[in-house]
Amino acid sequence: MSERNHSQPVIASDAPAARVDWMNLVALEKYGMPEGWQWFRAEVKNHSKPSSFILLTGAVCSVLFERGKRKGQQDWSKRDKATEAVIAIQHNDIDQLKLAWQQRTGKCHVCQGTGQYVYGWDHKDGDLKRPCDPCGATGNNPEALS
Ligand SMILES: [Zn+2]
Repeated sequence: MSERNHSQPVIASDAPAARVDWMNLVALEKYGMPEGWQWFRAEVKNHSKPSSFILLTGAVCSVLFERGKRKGQQDWSKRDKATEAVIAIQHNDIDQLKLAWQQRTGKCHVCQGTGQYVYGWDHKDGDLKRPCDPCGATGNNPEALS
C-alpha cells in the first residue's frame, strides 16, 4: 500500500469499514481506475430493466475548499481533468465485490464489520441503528458462520 497524502480522499479497501463506497471500489478494483479516483456523478440507466447498469463519472480531485461553508470538502471544479472518465458498472459487479470483500476482510458487508446496521437517519438522533441480522451483530462474515 502506497503512502497517502493526508488531504487526499481515501476510499479504498482499507478505508474505515462503515464508509466503504462499493461503487468506487468496483471502479478501482474491477475497472482499473487510478488511486484516488472517485465518482462524482452516478446515473442508473435502463432503470428496472434486466439491462440496467450504472454510469459513473469521476476523476481524481485533491483540491479542497479552503474557506467558506464547504471548507475541507472537495472542490470538484478543480478536479484533475486528465483523470476524468465515464465507466459503466453492472449491479452484479457490486454484489460480487461485496462477497469478495467479505472473504478478504472476514467482515459482514451489510454492516461493514460494525455489527450495527444503519437503517435510517434522524435529524435529532443522527444514524438510526439496529443489530445486524445477517451476521448476528458480530460484524463477521456471515458465510463463515455456518
Ligand atoms: Zn453484519
